[in-house]
Amino acid sequence: MPIPNRLRDKEFTIPEDITKSAEKGLSYELYKKLLFKYGKRGEKAFIYLKEDRIKKYLDFFVVVGENEYIVEDDFCTCRDFQINLKGRKPCAHILAVKIAKVTGGYRKYNKYYIDYMIDKRLR
Ligand SMILES: [Zn+2]
Repeated sequence: MPIPNRLRDKEFTIPEDITKSAEKGLSYELYKKLLFKYGKRGEKAFIYLKEDRIKKYLDFFVVVGENEYIVEDDFCTCRDFQINLKGRKPCAHILAVKIAKVTGGYRKYNKYYIDYMIDKRLR
């Protein structure tokens, strides 16, 4: 479900001062900046990073929250993003993946998540 550009909030791009902090690691400074800019979603993103909940498959990034959520660029499969935010602002998972791309803070899996999903459905 692609989202038309005109509906997008410019906040989808992480501000430079936040990426600069992220380059230095998961510091309190980064935590404060995420909280200030994105509220509780920013805080949650920081916790996902801190708890090592971001996985990179060959096809998608996946964030492990209550469920596993697929994140691809500016899209996430969670309810918060699709229902509350109506795809117009980034959810905690999208933020976590964007920061993880800067810090390298994700686990790499040498397989396709889509295969894992199909296995799960067929069981
Ligand atoms: Zn999400």
